Amino acid sequence: MYASTEGGELDLVNLLYNYVKTEREKHRREPGVLWVSDLVRCSLKRVYEERFPEIALSDMFRPSLVIGTLLHRGLEELLRNILGEVTVQAEVEGSKEVLLESGEVVVVRGRVDLLLARGDWRVAVEIKTSRSDRGIPQEHHVDQVRAYNWLLDLDRSILLYVTPDRVTQFYVDERMSDSEVASVVTSKKAPRYSWECSYCPYSIICPNKVVMQRP
Ligand code: SF4
Repeated sequence: MYASTEGGELDLVNLLYNYVKTEREKHRREPGVLWVSDLVRCSLKRVYEERFPEIALSDMFRPSLVIGTLLHRGLEELLRNILGEVTVQAEVEGSKEVLLESGEVVVVRGRVDLLLARGDWRVAVEIKTSRSDRGIPQEHHVDQVRAYNWLLDLDRSILLYVTPDRVTQFYVDERMSDSEVASVVTSKKAPRYSWECSYCPYSIICPNKVVMQRP
């Protein structure tokens, strides 16, 4: 068995690393633009991402994220092969301007994992991987998909969970309203959910960190 990739052997780990890095570089932040993912998580993360970019970088190649990326690519390919007349597009982007109560206008942008279309029929698919099926569908995932329905004017999206215990889907037919989006854009909630801090790379510097009690 070879544990080393020295000596000119094919270095698949390095290829994967570079792929993840390139994908990440496509998602650079622009001033005045918020992503749907910003709307459903702790408001401080966005601030720290800009101030301490290297901290998030070190999280980029976390194995659970790599597994998620591979699953997305695999499902995309699989659906293309088996869905016949349905068009399967990955990473479809939408963008809308939102007027805030202050009079400021911000742009909200988002990319759905997959968009399936045939004629006038369109449905988005958001893929989630998780170590457990406890509590699914999770509130922030449903909110994320409701935001995509708003962003892309969709009547329905599918939230697909792939976990070791369950592979299942939930239909989400609700949309966020303009006023709800404006309200979450201005929300300063940090953390948005108490469990967020346990998975947050900025917990090493954050004064708002919620420390969960050990059982
Ligand atoms: S540690 Fe908690 S409050 Fe601080 S940025 Fe992370 S999620 Fe937000």
